[in-house]
Amino acid sequence: MARWVSDRTRVVVVGAGFGGLWVARTIAPFSVDVLLMDQNNYHTFLPLLYQVAAAELEAEEIAHPVRSILRRLPNVQFALAKVEAIDPMAKLVKTENRTISYDYLVLSTGSVPEFFKIPGADKYALPLKTLEDGIAIRSQILACFEKAVHETDHRRREQMLTFTIVGGGPTGVEFAGALVELIRGALVRDFTTLDFQEVHVVLVEALGNLLSGFPERLQNRAVKRLVKMGVDVRLSSPVAEITPEAVLLKDGTFISTETVVWTAGVRGNLEADVAGLPTARNGQVLVLPTLQVEGYPDIYVVGDLARLEEDKDRLPMIAPVATQQGAHAARNIIRQISGLPPKVFRYRDRGKMVTIGRNYGLAQLFGWSFTGFPAWVIWLVVHLYNLIGFRNRIFVLIDWAWDYFFIERAIRLIIPRERMPPQVHMHRRQMT
Ligand SMILES: Cc1cc2nc3c(=O)[nH]c(=O)nc-3n(C[C@H](O)[C@H](O)[C@H](O)COP(=O)(O)OP(=O)(O)OC[C@H]3O[C@@H](n4cnc5c(N)ncnc54)[C@H](O)[C@@H]3O)c2cc1C
Repeated sequence: MARWVSDRTRVVVVGAGFGGLWVARTIAPFSVDVLLMDQNNYHTFLPLLYQVAAAELEAEEIAHPVRSILRRLPNVQFALAKVEAIDPMAKLVKTENRTISYDYLVLSTGSVPEFFKIPGADKYALPLKTLEDGIAIRSQILACFEKAVHETDHRRREQMLTFTIVGGGPTGVEFAGALVELIRGALVRDFTTLDFQEVHVVLVEALGNLLSGFPERLQNRAVKRLVKMGVDVRLSSPVAEITPEAVLLKDGTFISTETVVWTAGVRGNLEADVAGLPTARNGQVLVLPTLQVEGYPDIYVVGDLARLEEDKDRLPMIAPVATQQGAHAARNIIRQISGLPPKVFRYRDRGKMVTIGRNYGLAQLFGWSFTGFPAWVIWLVVHLYNLIGFRNRIFVLIDWAWDYFFIERAIRLIIPRERMPPQVHMHRRQMT
């Protein structure tokens, strides 16, 4: 069993994403010992991941080493480990080769892609959830262009050059815009022998509009903007099946495509074997309004993994919910240690925003709607400010400026096949 260095209250936090980091930062000034555990030694700034997939940013620019974030928090230790099991009765967290005891546990392991049991989706669609996913999608897109150069059959070439995004939420919308700009900017200049009339970006959404949860006026603007940019937007088009060569829609439409990017849904990520925690059908852990798990006053769940309703609406799986919940769980733990009852969590919704290509954004902030250039500027400032790491901010700013002024994408690398995740290997094997 791993040893703690003092006899102070021990708080174990699983997951160094938005929720877990904010637990650690909030609780650090108090007299407790904290162990933050993550399967990666870095924190990923997921809101910019689509720009890695669209060859706009380096993967390293949106990640930051956890140890460096924790440097100024002496009572917070880090452990690089995947949590495999939790024993809530014995208050133990288990990894492959360690068992750690805790007084309080915070679970913040985020979410994983949800494929809704659609045939072929988990096998042939490329999820956009991790740094590796972002690099794999970038490589797949660039490899399709390279292959298309040598393809003599028009039908096969169009299939290679059709990029289908499933899911018209913020990630799908932002990625569609960024992908069109990659194609119409840098790739047009790189692939001079290709006919770009054969290149298609298709965005497929099951609901009747994009950006569910945004005001209707902004949803309509998003459709208009994407259509103007040349994206083939298919609304009310649930996917029936995905094969290595096509996406089949429920209405019988057949989209011939080699690349399907999946941004349609996520589910709670509780891979660790935990007996007794109540979970919803989508894998999220049901929490009380205090963020504790019923029957386990010493276990808190925050972020994408937590299922909590406010005014009968489920809280969205977004970063501000995770950070606010992380900070709240930390304060509640301190209250419990001090003998006070934990407080109820209330989400402070400051708004939402997306960007769709250069100079264009849609934002709803503090009840006000912004569109076009002002919303785009607000989006840039907010994301740059929230990105962790001064170096990252500088490099992201340089890449954005380079892209803006030269309409150029600096990171057009195809990472060798051996280093790609299994989905891409499988996908390619099916193609040959
Ligand atoms: C592509 C994309 C774009 C997004 N864009 C936005 C946006 O623009 N705005 C916004 O507000 N939100 C956005 N989100 C959602 C936002 O990123 C999430 O809501 C937020 O990251 C949730 O925080 P979290 O702490 O719950 O999980 P995460 O930030 O995902 O962190 C979970 C952590 O747990 C670790 N982990 C998982 N399992 C284990 C285990 N068994 N053992 C140890 N460690 C483990 C993971 O490695 C990870 O570091 C986006 C998400 C994605 C995928």
